[in-house]
Amino acid sequence: MVNIFFKTYGCQANVADSTFLISYLSNRGRVVSCENEADFIIINSCAIREKAEQKLFSYLGKLALLKEDKPYLRVGVIGCVASYRKRDIFEKFDHVNFVFGAKEDINVLRSYLANALEELETIKKIYYNDPINFPIKFRRDRDIEKIVVERCGGCDFECHSFLQLGQKKLNKLEETGRKKLKRAFVNIMTGCNNYCSYCIVPFTRGREVSYKMKQILEHVKGEVKGGVKEITLVGQNVNSYSDPDSGAKFIALLREVAKIEGNFWVRYISSHPKDMTKNLFEVMAENKDRFCRHLHLPLQSGSDKILKAMNRVYSVEHYLKIVDWIREVLPDATITSDIIVGFPGETEEDYQMTRKIIEKVRFDLIYSFVYSKRKYTTAFNYPDDCKQEEKLSRLYALQERAKEISAENNSKHIGSVQRVLVEDRLKNGRLWGRTSGNVLVHFDGRDEKTGTFVDLKIGKADRVKLEGVLVEKEI
Ligand code: SF4
Repeated sequence: MVNIFFKTYGCQANVADSTFLISYLSNRGRVVSCENEADFIIINSCAIREKAEQKLFSYLGKLALLKEDKPYLRVGVIGCVASYRKRDIFEKFDHVNFVFGAKEDINVLRSYLANALEELETIKKIYYNDPINFPIKFRRDRDIEKIVVERCGGCDFECHSFLQLGQKKLNKLEETGRKKLKRAFVNIMTGCNNYCSYCIVPFTRGREVSYKMKQILEHVKGEVKGGVKEITLVGQNVNSYSDPDSGAKFIALLREVAKIEGNFWVRYISSHPKDMTKNLFEVMAENKDRFCRHLHLPLQSGSDKILKAMNRVYSVEHYLKIVDWIREVLPDATITSDIIVGFPGETEEDYQMTRKIIEKVRFDLIYSFVYSKRKYTTAFNYPDDCKQEEKLSRLYALQERAKEISAENNSKHIGSVQRVLVEDRLKNGRLWGRTSGNVLVHFDGRDEKTGTFVDLKIGKADRVKLEGVLVEKEI
């Protein structure tokens, strides 16, 4: 049996793609948790910041050593970096077998991987039967490609199966006993039409494409039937969803998801403030046992001037109106956000405007970063006279204050009873899970609680988590 290892960088869209592939491939091989055990390594790459791309390249460099010990090892890169640096990856890393971008059809990738796994099983057997005399043609990956890969000639992608080995038998591999998942990410769309001036996603994932509602609902039903307790609907801009069959919008999708029977709750990410309507929160409020009390609403900046330069097409005033709707319709919901500090042209005054909004909204959690220049984006050529040290000092000051606010917000939960989906056991022996508001909670309990909903009475809180005790009753 072939051991498959997935390394996933980046956002929930990547996690959803990896989960989809893992679920499909787990019947064809054994999914392992360490590179050293793997025969086939698939890396799902992220291009959102330069740092993520550097991490990928450094990781790929390390994998060359593994290939020396295991000459049949196959390595592939998928996802966003694969979309626009295919040639660079092939040129720099001889040991990479295939590169498949996020814009390409994941179903094509799926069937490619199924064929590749089948062939790799044969190659692996040849190696272990006689490692000393393992044919040199199998030792070097490029040679393997020459022998076994048919290229269509239209692109660099190895979209044809490995026919020449003549081993097309479909062995029914034993079930891997895949670890039962409690959470599932379901992609409802891919790509983005917004072209925020700092963002590379429209270039790596392409234009917005919504998936069919019928298929999404089937996917959700399947996950729930399989025991999943939390579904996250994922897309670059979920609230611009539009069913390609009927034109039904995101709210209609939520209404349909709400009708699915089962004991599970639903999140969605990411939303664009320009597409937010009060009605969306009303649908969530009407189905309060189904939709989590958590909104992730990226602000990016508290300055209208910077928002305009970012091409975010909403004003601070509009953003605050949405926050008011949330507070009115879903008063117990947590609100989290993304902030970019040091965007080109950001003055101290602009930065202080962002700080002001943070004080006003009092976000439960902020994901904040210094602006990272990305090739191909509009902002790449923007003049930027703010020094990196200044940007970092702004970032650290903002993060410190944001953490204090998180701690203050978390402390408000003390004394309340929170429903929590239990994830796993920590190294310190305690269990952990998340509330409907996506706040982390630690508590003591038995293993059987993992993957179930429990009610916890909250006794302590700090900036990152709550601590609670079980309120014993069956849910
Ligand atoms: S909405 Fe903007 S930030 Fe989000 S994926 Fe699209 S272009 Fe990027």
